[in-house]
Amino acid sequence: MTQPAQWLRPEVLQGSAYHVADSRGMIKLDAMENPYDLPAGLRSAWAANLSGAALNRYPDPQARKLQLLLRQSLALDADTGLLLGNGSDELIQLLCMAVASPGRSILAPTPTFVMYKLLAECLGLRFIGVPLAANFALDGAAMLAAIAQHQPAIVWLAYPNNPTGNLFDAAAIYAILRAAPGLVVLDEAYSAFSDGHSFLGEIGRYPNLLVMRTLSKQGFAGLRLGLLAGPQNWIAELDKLRLPYNINVLTQLSVHFLLQNANVFAQQAQQILSERQRLFTALGQLPGIQPYPSQANFILLRTAAGRASAIHAALKTRGILIKNLDQAPGLKDCLRVTVGTAEENDAFLQAMESLI
Ligand SMILES: *Cc1c(COP(=O)(O)O)cnc(C)c1O
Repeated sequence: MTQPAQWLRPEVLQGSAYHVADSRGMIKLDAMENPYDLPAGLRSAWAANLSGAALNRYPDPQARKLQLLLRQSLALDADTGLLLGNGSDELIQLLCMAVASPGRSILAPTPTFVMYKLLAECLGLRFIGVPLAANFALDGAAMLAAIAQHQPAIVWLAYPNNPTGNLFDAAAIYAILRAAPGLVVLDEAYSAFSDGHSFLGEIGRYPNLLVMRTLSKQGFAGLRLGLLAGPQNWIAELDKLRLPYNINVLTQLSVHFLLQNANVFAQQAQQILSERQRLFTALGQLPGIQPYPSQANFILLRTAAGRASAIHAALKTRGILIKNLDQAPGLKDCLRVTVGTAEENDAFLQAMESLI
């Protein structure tokens, strides 16, 4: 009988799938989603807009109308290339595929977004993780030393970083941009919640700088749209690897329609920011809990030694799902909670109080 082990690459057999917890019926504070619904009026206008979709036809392979709107809203100049992905996960995969060859490596500070490692290793790339300092700051000297030693094809920098929530020091990032022999990708997935400056405006100043964004954390997680901006020469090459119709017609129409109401999502982001502040203050008052300051729509917190998994499990029995990071390297005793609605955050805080 033909067995998977006979034919599948060792990277596939040894890898494990990205685990998504079952969240049915739970207060879902584990995945950095925007907790707010579309206002009812906007929802019906959106549905009416979608009803005109040509489902029998392939979507526009370049998503030109959507590209144009995104270019405007991000204020990209004419020399900047733009590549759209089915979520930024697809763009991470595409970048890995583009550089994968024997002996090549990918580098990132750790802990960081797990897909950088997972997708690199699946393609046979070596993943080099450079530990962050104890306060989760970038260890600039260690990064430069590892870059010099390993000559990575790509350096990933999540800005702000997931799951730590902080921004890295800009001067250290510029030093990396100057030192890296390959690409440096600034992943600005949480830019809507951050007061750090964006690297979008620096595209072209560094020939190796790409900037990635996603609409997932702002309220469009279900539509799957990520984007990669960078010098035209890079984007044109990478575009050869993109599947022709990777952005489906419903996503193209929906994002185009909803971005014209960007103020709705900006207001929701403001609410998330004020809830983040409230959550941070309340968590800091719980004995044994240390929340870390965040520039994103989640908060990383450290529990008393050895308590994280029990707290995570007890929250789950109370119908509240957050992320347990206790087993993640560098994150012993850590949990991550996404900022929800005021009611969801209250439920979470009440459960935490009764558990601690
Ligand atoms: C959530 C996240 C992504 C993935 O976003 P999608 O566009 O939903 O695939 C990418 N990078 C970071 C740092 C994230 O936290």
